Amino acid sequence: MEIGRGSRIQNGVSVYRGVIINKWRFVGPHVIFTNDLSPRAGTTKWEICKTHLASGSSIGAGSIITCDISIGRFALIGAGSVVTSNIPDFCLAYGLPARPVSRVCACGKSRLDFSVHKSELIRDCCRERLIQEVIELAEQEIDNMDGPNAL
Ligand SMILES: [Zn+2]
Repeated sequence: MEIGRGSRIQNGVSVYRGVIINKWRFVGPHVIFTNDLSPRAGTTKWEICKTHLASGSSIGAGSIITCDISIGRFALIGAGSVVTSNIPDFCLAYGLPARPVSRVCACGKSRLDFSVHKSELIRDCCRERLIQEVIELAEQEIDNMDGPNAL
């Protein structure tokens, strides 16, 4: 388990070995992570299955995150979701199983079309709502995304 600077983990979250939470992630109350793809009692071998939360991502209250997945940069997972596959960068995803439904800006307030250019992912709302360090992180992560509309 790795938890980085600026991350917020709310009450009742189950974080197991294999979960990597780097900088500026938000994990809502009672989120459940897993770390075993084939859980069985009485096994002689057990390999930790990893889950990676990318920079700036947020997970809504009560969500379940299965292992062997990545949640993208500044992705936003709606409350009560069950995440069973990778979630792209700057996407709002929710449901059972969680599916991407739109793009979101860096602060998560603006819902955007999937065709939005990556240069539009930081908006006025973000500059009003995020501290400068997180804005700079978002700028770096956007630069690291592949192509203008990379998902
Ligand atoms: Zn915003």
